[in-house]
Amino acid sequence: MKDWITIGFNFFLPAYLAFRWSGKEKRSKWAWTVACFVFSWFGLIAFALTRRGLPTVEEYARTNPGNAAGGMSCNRCGSRSIRVWREQAFIKVRQYHICNHCGTTLYRSR
Ligand SMILES: [Zn+2]
Repeated sequence: MKDWITIGFNFFLPAYLAFRWSGKEKRSKWAWTVACFVFSWFGLIAFALTRRGLPTVEEYARTNPGNAAGGMSCNRCGSRSIRVWREQAFIKVRQYHICNHCGTTLYRSR
């Protein structure tokens, strides 16, 4: 009985988390699920370390040219109402631009 809990915790849980997480971030779902099943928690650590951050303003404008012409708009719902979310960790300031209508984080500017 205890063995099954150990197997579940070390193989199925990281695989499940990778499945959910990679789907959310639009990365190759099955590759990460299999990798985390085989490598257990190390696969999940690799996933976290190779994550891409949010796109910059320039990258966002390049990938969504229709949403950047004549002022920024959301690439999901088309809303032009975008708020800035400022986050400061010690001296490093990050600014995220979030859609007011659907709540999608669109890009960062610092
Ligand atoms: Zn939106």
